[in-house]
Amino acid sequence: MRHYDRETIERCMAGELGIFRRSSVQRHLKKCPDCARLSEEIKNENELLVSLRAAQKRYRNFERDKDASAVLSSLVSRFGAPGETGRGSD
Ligand SMILES: [Zn+2]
Repeated sequence: MRHYDRETIERCMAGELGIFRRSSVQRHLKKCPDCARLSEEIKNENELLVSLRAAQKRYRNFERDKDASAVLSSLVSRFGAPGETGRGSD
C-alpha cells in the first residue's frame, strides 16, 4: 500500500488539496492505521499551536491594557515572574 507523506496529510488537513486528492487521502486514512496515527499527531500539534497562539494573543492584549499591566507588575514584584517560583506549572 502506498502511504502519504506528512506534508501531504498536513496539506490535506489544511484544506490545501483539491477535492479528488483530498478524498483519496481521507479514504487512505480510514484504512491505514499508520497514516491515521500520523494525522492524529498532526491534529494534536495543530491544536497545541492554535492554543499557544491564542494564549500569546491574550497575553499581548493583556500587556496593552494599562491597568492590567499595572496589576501584573505588582503581582510580579510580590510573587516573582511566572516560572521563577521553581515549581512546575501543573
Ligand atoms: Zn498509510
